[in-house]
Amino acid sequence: MQAPKSKKNIKAVGLLSGGLDSTLAAKMMLEQGIEVHAINFTSPFCTCTPKKAGCAAVVTAIKALGGIPLKQVAMRDEYLEMVQNPKHGYGKGINPCIDCRILKIKKAGEYMRKIGASFLFTGEVLGQRPMSQHKQAIAIIDEDSGLKGHILRPLSANHFEPTVPELEGWVKREKLLGISGRSRKTQISLAAEKDIRDYPCPAGGCLLTDGHFSEKMRDYLKFTDQPSIRDISLLKVGRHFRLEGGDKLIVARNEQECKALKDLFREKDHLLTPLNFPGPVLILQGSSLPAAVEKVLYYTKPAHRKNARIECRHLGKNQIISLDEMASQAPHKASMGRNEEPINTRRS
Ligand code: SF4
Repeated sequence: MQAPKSKKNIKAVGLLSGGLDSTLAAKMMLEQGIEVHAINFTSPFCTCTPKKAGCAAVVTAIKALGGIPLKQVAMRDEYLEMVQNPKHGYGKGINPCIDCRILKIKKAGEYMRKIGASFLFTGEVLGQRPMSQHKQAIAIIDEDSGLKGHILRPLSANHFEPTVPELEGWVKREKLLGISGRSRKTQISLAAEKDIRDYPCPAGGCLLTDGHFSEKMRDYLKFTDQPSIRDISLLKVGRHFRLEGGDKLIVARNEQECKALKDLFREKDHLLTPLNFPGPVLILQGSSLPAAVEKVLYYTKPAHRKNARIECRHLGKNQIISLDEMASQAPHKASMGRNEEPINTRRS
């Protein structure tokens, strides 16, 4: 981090999620005459970010802040590695919040150095989030990121020892706040005072905190030798079943998911598409084709099963499977689908 030459050119990098707290923190820094550069992180686990659209909330926040510079960073495989093996463990889901904050702050620190800024700030509020915003977690984040003393939290600064920007007089500590806890009343009234009106509700966020998704993610990590961020999109679609032996079935629940599975299908897997009847598209990861056909049948109305034909695509080749032929070879299997509980409802 660089020391500013004069008070005029004090530059800071703010981690801006687009939520109210980080927008307020940025506004407070601007009001203190700091040149604010925002950095925003997205990952495939963000729930409010349409594919490839970046973070819409942060664009709104940037407007509310008068158009400050913004750097957007899409976290990918490095982020997945952290999710796989977090040094500081998980929260209630598969959310490694402390490691996630450390990684983002390290990245923000690199950007800070690159643009010659002098410190970082965040919208964190002491005690607001159970895993990463209590004092001990914040101390770990500061220490492990290697930026201790250079991370200012303007909304809760009074609960912490003064940081370098306060000690150096770059920001006035008396203008910083001592908010703590989960209530957002103070922030909401501050937003009204500062004319910040269009901010998202705090419910949006991160799939890693979602119980159902966490089970699918744990299963994926357990059965996958080389996890890839490209596979995460598939975890968000359909019902997922792990078969004995390790093969996996993913069944579309509606037309939109049928289309999504076709888009996400990769040639090493099998794509089963009903040809002459209304039924679900299915992806098979593995070789259990009879089980995959059974699953398509299970989710097809009995009236539509007769004479049904399914196209199976695999490694660039198409095979047509006739259910009548299957039934004549193994009537007990092809007559009726079998069901197991999907991964995200199974008790372990
Ligand atoms: S909720 Fe998700 S994005 Fe937020 S700190 Fe935790 S892991 Fe990171």
